[in-house]
Order: sequence, then C-alpha cells, then structure tokens
Amino acid sequence: MKKRIGIVGLYHESNTFAPERTTLTHFQKGRYMKGEDIIKEYREAHHEIGGMIEVLEKEEVEMVPLLYAEATPGGTITSDTYYSLLKDLMTELENALPLDGLMVAPHGAGVSEYYPDMDGHWLSQVREKLGADIPIVGTLDLHANVSPLMVSSTDALVSYKQNPHVDQRERGKESANLMIRHLKGEIKLTQALVQVPLAISIEQQLTADEPCKSLYQFARELSQQEGVVSLSIQLGFPYADVQEMSTSIIVVTNNNPELAKKTGEKLRDYIVEHRRNFVGEKTGVPASLELAEKSEKPVLLLDMGDNIGGGSPGNSICIMEELEKEKKLKYFLCLYDPEAVQEADKHQPGDRFSIQLAGSCGDTNKSYTIDVKLIALSDGVFQEKQPRHGGQVNYKMGRTAVVSTQEGSIIMLTSLRVPPFSLQQLLSFDIQPSQFDVIIAKGVNAPIAAYAPVCPAIIQVDTPGVTQADMTRFTFHHRRKPLYPFEQL
Ligand SMILES: [Zn+2]
Repeated sequence: MKKRIGIVGLYHESNTFAPERTTLTHFQKGRYMKGEDIIKEYREAHHEIGGMIEVLEKEEVEMVPLLYAEATPGGTITSDTYYSLLKDLMTELENALPLDGLMVAPHGAGVSEYYPDMDGHWLSQVREKLGADIPIVGTLDLHANVSPLMVSSTDALVSYKQNPHVDQRERGKESANLMIRHLKGEIKLTQALVQVPLAISIEQQLTADEPCKSLYQFARELSQQEGVVSLSIQLGFPYADVQEMSTSIIVVTNNNPELAKKTGEKLRDYIVEHRRNFVGEKTGVPASLELAEKSEKPVLLLDMGDNIGGGSPGNSICIMEELEKEKKLKYFLCLYDPEAVQEADKHQPGDRFSIQLAGSCGDTNKSYTIDVKLIALSDGVFQEKQPRHGGQVNYKMGRTAVVSTQEGSIIMLTSLRVPPFSLQQLLSFDIQPSQFDVIIAKGVNAPIAAYAPVCPAIIQVDTPGVTQADMTRFTFHHRRKPLYPFEQL
C-alpha cells in the first residue's frame, strides 16, 4: 500500500509590540484553505508547500493535504483564534488517520495570547496525536524564533536560507526529500537545536551581503560533514517579547545527535565571535533623503519602522511628510487606509478632491490632508509568478484607490494590509517605477527581491514604529538573558 503523507501549515509572524491583535478574520481574509485547494494554490508557487508537493507527487506516496492557514504578519494572535485554528487542524488530522508521515509548515515566530510559543504548542499537539514513530518533517521561516519544543516535537526542520526568501520552494523540496529518505530507511533523522545568545538587527539580515554572506559560507562548509543532512540558521525575529526570541541553529543528522549538537555549537561560536558585525548602523529620514537626492533614480526607500512583513500597521507617513515639505522628489507610496479608500470610492477617476489620510509616525497618530486627483479604483487583486519573498501567487489588497498629488506623486490606498513583495502591485495598475524619484516600500529586506531590478539605489531608512530597526528601544519582559546587543557577552 502507498504511504500516506499529510501536509499541514499554520503560519504567522507575530509582532507582540503591535497594538492590534490578530483574529480569525485576519486568517480568513488572508489564506485559509483545505484539501485539494491547497494543491491548486501552491503546486506552481515559489512556496514551501509547492516544493513539498513537487517531491511527493514524484514519489509513490499518497499526498493528504489537510489545512493551510496564514495571516499577514501582525499583532499577537488572540486565544480564541488560536483555539479555533488548532481545533480545525486537529479535526482534519484525526479524520486523515492513519498517516505514515506529516509535512508541516509553521512560521516559527507565531505568538498567541495564552501560548507565546504557539508553533511549539501546535507541533507538540500534532506529535501527541501521531505518536513518536510517525515522522514529522517540515520548514521554518528564516525569521523563526525557535523553541526547544518545536524541535523536540518534530524529526527535522529546515529553514529558508535566503532573505529575501526566494528559496522557499527549494526548502520545501529539501524537507520532503528528508521525509522520503527517512521513510525508505535510507537515513534516520535526528536533529539538535542550538540557541545563540544574540539577536540580529533586522537590516543586517540581507543574506547576499555581509555579515550574513560569510556566516552562510561557513555554515555551508559545516554542512558538508559526513552525517550532516541539513543545517539551518534562523536569524530570528526581534519584534517578539518571548523567551525564544533570538538567533538559532538547527542541525539534522543521520542518527548522530552528538554530531548535530557539536556542529551547531561551532556555528554558534562563530556568530558570537563576530557579534559586533550584526549590530549595524542606522540612517534617519533627513539623511536618507539627502542621499536619495544624489543617487541614481528611482531610489528604493525602505521604511523599516513600518515593515508590514514584520507586523506593522502600514499607514506610516514619516517619510512622506518630509518629502511633502520639500516637494523635491516625486514618490510612490502605498498606505493601508480603508477609510480613505471609502472616501475615494465616492468619486470618479479624474475627479480632484481633498482627502484625509489616517496616517501615523511611530506611535503618534498623524492624520494628514492632501489635495489629490483620483486615477483608478479597483478590487486590488493581482498575481505574482516570479520567485519573490513570501512565495505567494495570489494577492488581495481589498478595495483599492490610486490617487496622484499635484506634483505627480502617486499614493495607493488599500483596504487590506499588503506587504510590498511584488512589483505587480504597481504594474497591474500601469504604474511604472521609472516615473518616480523614490519608491517607498514598507519593509527592510523582503521588498528587495521585487524592486532591485528596477531601483538602482536602495536605502534602508531608520523610521520609528513597531518594527523600528533598533530593537534595544523596545521594552522586553520575557526574552532570555544575556542576549547581545542588549547585554554584553
Ligand atoms: Zn521571514
């Protein structure tokens, strides 16, 4: 009989500093699918589930897609939401039994009110249901804050190696191949977690550049050792006040726990030794705009304090306000502002009117009124087929309005929070990047995959907000100590 392998994903990056909680509605408006719908959505996608599907379909196994739920990164998940998701997941799992293996796709930085280690909790529940002998293998985001419970509840976890995460499909394939080899008896999966006493500043997490480039090179060398079958570095997600917030390493070996642990420790020592390189320097708004004026256009301005992919509100106007004062640079900006969309929706394209933007800068509300012309209204749906951060194909921005200012800058207003991972967000409206001096993208590294091909200059701007680059400005109550750069090592 064919072996039956389940697929399940519960995926959220939770920013515990964001004031708004994440609820079931956020998952329903995001991605919430079961059975064959999962295969339909992800078979061709540059997403870990797509990679898992590709491998499992080639093997003589029966694929059993159960549930995949994901919400845009945001605040802590409410208890009711998590219980509801967990109940649904466990029911699907129960109905699918017996299984010979389970592929899992947690993010690794999910936080719920009652279970701060949400991913550790649901993985442990799944382990309890399946028993110790059924392999559980899967993927993690490179920004996972990994707990011992996540690792003890699974047989092997593989995290993305690239930031922007353009290798998600590859990692899904890697994890599914580990599952297949384990089931065939070719290897016996064992893994070890080594937590590093350090948190890496977000703008230092671009894997193509130093200091990450050398780190991943060293990791690649260590992974060549006989017996090591997979080696992952989780750079970590600093915006979660939880015990497991930090950088970590997972080493998977063929039945050699000692080798897994020792290899992880070697890599940990390397990171600790080079810790000062992971702190970085920050450039504020005025200095960034001065730099942008001198740079080849269009310049990508990365709004680090309002990084939607890190759970921020998506309505910050810190950079726009400065640009509007000077009126020297023509800009593109996308804002999450459902009320402004409703206001724009009362007009026809070509109409000129004054619109009030909800606006914020850091934790200050900054409503901002501006004269605009309506360019377009739409349902805000577009597709991305290229390998881009997040690996998603279908994007939904909700009702969307595009307006222009008197100077020709463009503001896109959306009804859902959408991170800027795809150039199609502009192109599907016939907005060309080349018409601007600067493009403001609410992210740090993730938007680079989409925008580097059209922006000759990229500036990471140190703006305030719940994703501000300098993590030492937040008050933590639950993180481990010591943790560099909060404490000296
Ligand atoms: Zn990530």
